[in-house]
Amino acid sequence: MEAKNVQEQMHLLKELQDIDSVVGRVRQDRQQLQQELGTLDAEVERVRAMVAGLQESLESLQAERREFEQALIQERDNVARAEGRLPSIKTQKEYVAVLKEVDTAKKMNRDIEERIKAKDGEIAALEGEKQEKDQELAAQEEKAAQRRGEIEARLAEMDAVLSSRESERGTIFEQIPVPTRKRYQMLLERRGGLAVVEARQGACQGCNMQLPPQVFNSLYRQEEVMTCPHCHRLIFLSGPERA
Ligand SMILES: [Zn+2]
Repeated sequence: MEAKNVQEQMHLLKELQDIDSVVGRVRQDRQQLQQELGTLDAEVERVRAMVAGLQESLESLQAERREFEQALIQERDNVARAEGRLPSIKTQKEYVAVLKEVDTAKKMNRDIEERIKAKDGEIAALEGEKQEKDQELAAQEEKAAQRRGEIEARLAEMDAVLSSRESERGTIFEQIPVPTRKRYQMLLERRGGLAVVEARQGACQGCNMQLPPQVFNSLYRQEEVMTCPHCHRLIFLSGPERA
């Protein structure tokens, strides 16, 4: 059933505005919390990617180290084989040649051993770095999970508020005559969620502009739903000015 007189209509419009103000604020808070969830996820993801990068570098260092070890085994074999040939050598020339071969292979071994040692240093440093990042990730994940829980609880509360407010809104909305309803809705969208405002001390509280005296006179008489001539919001009187 639609409201008949202006007083009733204004009353409904004010209620509607109160609900829409709450709904607007809750939606805004809701959006902020959802953004925060996104930020939390992104932060965890960032550290996780760093850990994965370190793991990859570590694996490639270990693969390089294994290659050096293989090379070392081969060089040690070469040394053993050459040394094994020494007792059966007949000529001095050949003996010198094999000794030289052994010497070169041993030098090579020392070189490879040095490289393995260097790799071990790199690996140890990287392992330390990764361990730190692992801890950072675990702390980050824990923090995010805790905050996520808080946010999700808040979001559930907000959803409950929104759904109850929206059903209240529907009941009020359908009591307002269609043209006023449409005007309200349009103003709500175009005037930053504020469609109904008080006229106080001669001014519209929506845009702070002075209202002409005839607008005030009409507001007192309550013959029609009045709008601010400047911002076109729906205006009402309340408090002492009303009486
Ligand atoms: Zn105004």
